[in-house]
Amino acid sequence: MIPARYGATRFPGKLMQDLGGKPVIVRTYEATKDTKLFDEVYVVTDSELIYKEIELSGGKAIMSIKEHDCGTDRIAEAVVDMDVDIVVNVQGDEPFTSKSGLKQVLSVFDGPDADKIDLASLMTEIYDWKEISDPNSVKVIVDKDNFALYFSRSPIPYPRDKNAAVQYYKHKGIYAFRKKALLDFYKLPMRPMEAAEKIECIRYLEYGKNIKMAISNTQSIEIDTPEDLIRANKVLKDDKNITINNMYRNFPMVPKVVFGRGSFDQLPSILAPQRKDKAPFIYLVDDVFKDDEVIIDRMNLRFNDKLIFVSAEEEPKTEQVDTIVKSIKGEFTYSPSGIIGVGGGSVLDLSKAVSIMLTNKGSSSDYQGWDLVSTKSVYHVGIPTISGTGAEVSRTTVLTGPDKKLGINSDFTTFDQVVLDPDLTASVPKEQWFYTGMDCFIHCVESLNGTFLNEFSKSYGEKAYDLCKEIFLSDNLSEVESRGKLMMASWHGGMSIAYSQVGVAHAMSYGLSYVLGIKHGIGNCIVFDHIEEYYPEGVGLFKKMKDYHNIELPQGICNNLTEYQMDTMIDIALSLVPLWENALGDDWKSIMTRDKLRELYLKM
Ligand code: NAD
Ligand code: ZN
Repeated sequence: MIPARYGATRFPGKLMQDLGGKPVIVRTYEATKDTKLFDEVYVVTDSELIYKEIELSGGKAIMSIKEHDCGTDRIAEAVVDMDVDIVVNVQGDEPFTSKSGLKQVLSVFDGPDADKIDLASLMTEIYDWKEISDPNSVKVIVDKDNFALYFSRSPIPYPRDKNAAVQYYKHKGIYAFRKKALLDFYKLPMRPMEAAEKIECIRYLEYGKNIKMAISNTQSIEIDTPEDLIRANKVLKDDKNITINNMYRNFPMVPKVVFGRGSFDQLPSILAPQRKDKAPFIYLVDDVFKDDEVIIDRMNLRFNDKLIFVSAEEEPKTEQVDTIVKSIKGEFTYSPSGIIGVGGGSVLDLSKAVSIMLTNKGSSSDYQGWDLVSTKSVYHVGIPTISGTGAEVSRTTVLTGPDKKLGINSDFTTFDQVVLDPDLTASVPKEQWFYTGMDCFIHCVESLNGTFLNEFSKSYGEKAYDLCKEIFLSDNLSEVESRGKLMMASWHGGMSIAYSQVGVAHAMSYGLSYVLGIKHGIGNCIVFDHIEEYYPEGVGLFKKMKDYHNIELPQGICNNLTEYQMDTMIDIALSLVPLWENALGDDWKSIMTRDKLRELYLKM
């Protein structure tokens, strides 16, 4: 049943707005019917206009006779005389209602506790504190069997300690009722908690009913505002059932890049036109080069330019970014002419973050997430001295913050200029060369085997994959050739994931890094070695590469974890929803269970 009231308060007449040539309500009706999950689908409405529109399009509609406060009462009235077991309330303003969500909400009635269920509804995991604290998104807390305890517009539970490991859920307005429960509630008076929060389903709790919550991980688009409608129209143009994660990506690329052995010497002439009067260039340089006078000399610092050596011992932290920014602001009256990052993925990420934070207020941890940066960063240049991460080309800077490890992913993150000089990587120790190089190989495998793959991403991924095979499995290359090729493989691998996504190894490696502090490159290798189940060909090649270069990986690293550590590791890995969706598809949760993850971690 799709309750459809004409006069929505926030966006009047929204159900009759045009969405790709048909009214929103017709789209919702058709999408619901197309799921083939229901014996009958009806629109129940108070509006003749909507009624006629549905009939005209060949659908079934029912006029509700009475005035109703809410959609549930409207459908209750309509089913009183129907011979029906379970009634699902589908929101009229959710034209992209997905089959998997509806299927999940229905499936609970086949589960072991079906007898206890009066009604079922959906929830979806949320991570962004902005969304968690937004009163427009209704949060729900559940007991161990996923029965709802309470719904609220406040963040529940309230995290006294900022890093409390708790999963937040947002309620999605789809309900499946047993007919009896629906009729029991018809016209029951509203009670104070519902009235205070203005959340309809609190009424069921206030009258002691059991609401079973199913988890859905597909995102949908609700039409609440005219802007939503514009967005929905865009989505429709591409694909009817596309999810938000897969929408078009309109990303900036690095606008200027110089390549070649010795190109590092171009730096002074590249920077000269960017210098703004008294504003210095700040060089953030990996401290492995601290005593390398030749490299320092080649940078040719001028005037009040400043060189800061940074350690890549640990992966970049938000705190570290904030400290560097503070010291630059404290020392110079003028905002710098630019930031020059010289080092591996760690230093490149740090440089990107510093350049953003010089023009944006607050702490860098406020910007971990997607598109949270509002002001353009200062000019910044990336000069990789080790190849593989793709950080030189990517639109993100991965940071460990007080409560999460997440990138600042924005249009302003991408470097303005990159210098690719393969000779700078000549001094990388062999093990490190392998680990970081494998980051690139794994990017390709995960991107090429992912469900988000498209031709754009594939063309980069395939090239990088072939380059990696040549670099790591043949002996026809000179060291010089090999360094140049790996530098380009890193670039292409980075491009490939920017337009698709990584997968199983990255999700699990984030868990290792968060709990055990294991660095990205080696962490990926440790995981990848044990996941042939998901990437048979890629892992097969990886093992060959490992043997070919006599690389020994640590073993048994999860053997002595406490239960709490293991749980945290699993939580962190599972929280990376887009990575799993890419790797295993919409049904990933049934494939990658907590038990399965534990089993895999214990192998490592
Ligand atoms: P890294 O920057 O952590 O450096 C690894 C080690 O190599 C360090 O000890 C460093 O001092 C040393 N090193 C670097 N260049 C050297 C050289 N020329 N000679 C000798 N030693 C050298 O390693 P990485 O693997 O390049 O970067 C990992 C980081 O990149 C992680 O923090 C990860 O989160 C990040 N990352 C970012 C992206 C992105 O898109 N932004 C993608 C993947 C990984
Ligand atoms: Zn990576």
